[in-house]
Amino acid sequence: MQIPFVDLKSQYYTLRQEIDAAMHAVIEESAFIEGKYVAAFEQSFAQKYGVRHCITVANGTDALFIVFKCLGIGTGDEVITTASSWISTSQTITQAGARVVFVDIEPRYYTIDVNQIESKITSRTKALVPVHLYGHPAAMDAIQELCRKHHLLLVEDCAQAHFAAYKGARVGTFGFANTFSFYPAKNLGAYGDAGAIVTNDDALARAMRMFSRYGGLEKHQHEIEGINSRTDGLQAAILSVKLQHIDGWNQRRLAHACLYNELLKDIPGVTTPQIRQDSTHVFHVYAVMAKRRDELQQFLSSRGIATAIHYPVALPFLPAYRYLGHGPDDFPVAYQHQLQTLSLPMYPELSREQID
Ligand SMILES: *Cc1c(COP(=O)(O)O)cnc(C)c1O
Repeated sequence: MQIPFVDLKSQYYTLRQEIDAAMHAVIEESAFIEGKYVAAFEQSFAQKYGVRHCITVANGTDALFIVFKCLGIGTGDEVITTASSWISTSQTITQAGARVVFVDIEPRYYTIDVNQIESKITSRTKALVPVHLYGHPAAMDAIQELCRKHHLLLVEDCAQAHFAAYKGARVGTFGFANTFSFYPAKNLGAYGDAGAIVTNDDALARAMRMFSRYGGLEKHQHEIEGINSRTDGLQAAILSVKLQHIDGWNQRRLAHACLYNELLKDIPGVTTPQIRQDSTHVFHVYAVMAKRRDELQQFLSSRGIATAIHYPVALPFLPAYRYLGHGPDDFPVAYQHQLQTLSLPMYPELSREQID
């Protein structure tokens, strides 16, 4: 039996008729850019999230960049984020013109260590960007409290955590503007690149839509110089179909994770993921910590089981951040994590037999 790390094809087969019909309609109507399919997805995503605005963009990286630019984050500012994420989170801070300041992760849940944030706040700190890594909510109570106390803008990177929840509220509803990726393998994935920003702030929503649409809300009315970052009609139509299934998929991911936890609980040298109290984890990634990680990965591979590492090098240790001069001692938890973390196959369509 070959077990892939993710299996997007089996999901397509479960929705084939709906998806084919949606794509066909977009092509028939030539509704490729903007138009009713994009508007419909924005409306249903905002509605399901219980927020006033959803602005679709080209990908989750652009979503972060657009938020930082439109919040006025730039030269002279510092933005605090976690040591363990995909580079989009930090590169967009730099690209907006600010300086990225990393904080180590907590040993139990792998999200930003809230006890180490305050010591990194300076008079230049403008924003705090938690990442709900693997689909697990960061400690939002403490994060909100720090943002209030130090007047920081809160931006949540929800690329891995569609519809995860913290104390009954969905992640993506705590920050001032919060970002999503619909990269194909994300919990809610398009058939190409796509992303979105949600916010309850009318003025910010307007600014972000304008910036991402060549600086204008009407054709030829360019109020500023912007960029071109949109979700196309095909992706929006596909996402609208898939949005109707996301809750069930997330529930299955959670059930699979609980089963993995149960089956792995007595294996020495392997630590299974824990879930923060009062949180709903959506298990975009199911990652264990293994003392002999590389050997385990090779063993699984020899048995036809694909795995992945999220991430082999924590952000501060990447060549891209050599200029910050960080070493393993600056982020000991993230460093241990990069040596031991191993992600097992995870997708809603996994079978009991495959998990066993
Ligand atoms: C996937 C991801 C992104 C970037 O999304 P793209 O759509 O691939 O640009 C940003 N942040 C995190 C945490 C991600 O996992």
